[in-house]
Amino acid sequence: MKTIVSSEAEKELIRRFIEVVNDLDRIKDIENVDSNTKQQSISSDEYRFIENGFLNCKIEIDNVLHPITQDNDIITGTCSECGVETEGTYDQNDVSYDDYLGYNTKESQKDWLCEECEEKLGVE
Ligand SMILES: [Zn+2]
Repeated sequence: MKTIVSSEAEKELIRRFIEVVNDLDRIKDIENVDSNTKQQSISSDEYRFIENGFLNCKIEIDNVLHPITQDNDIITGTCSECGVETEGTYDQNDVSYDDYLGYNTKESQKDWLCEECEEKLGVE
């Protein structure tokens, strides 16, 4: 099986996810939930194929793909000027996983400014 993502960071995230699914044997849990529904979507035999696919999964990067994104409120921090807790980004656009990692670096967090302080200080 092959999974294609849009960046090196996404590749590492998905690699870790697949490792968790495999190490904790989670495909069987999904199968159990599915088998308890009125109309099971994937047969037991088909789940064995999926398990094998996850065990032998190659992850590739294609930069043309749209990145995995999340609502900007996933970005939180503490203003380095006034100490207020912030949520979201100035532009309020969805954030990619790469953006998320960038916002959460010590380097980024140490100069974190709430919108009010950012306007007051005129920092880009
Ligand atoms: Zn502030």
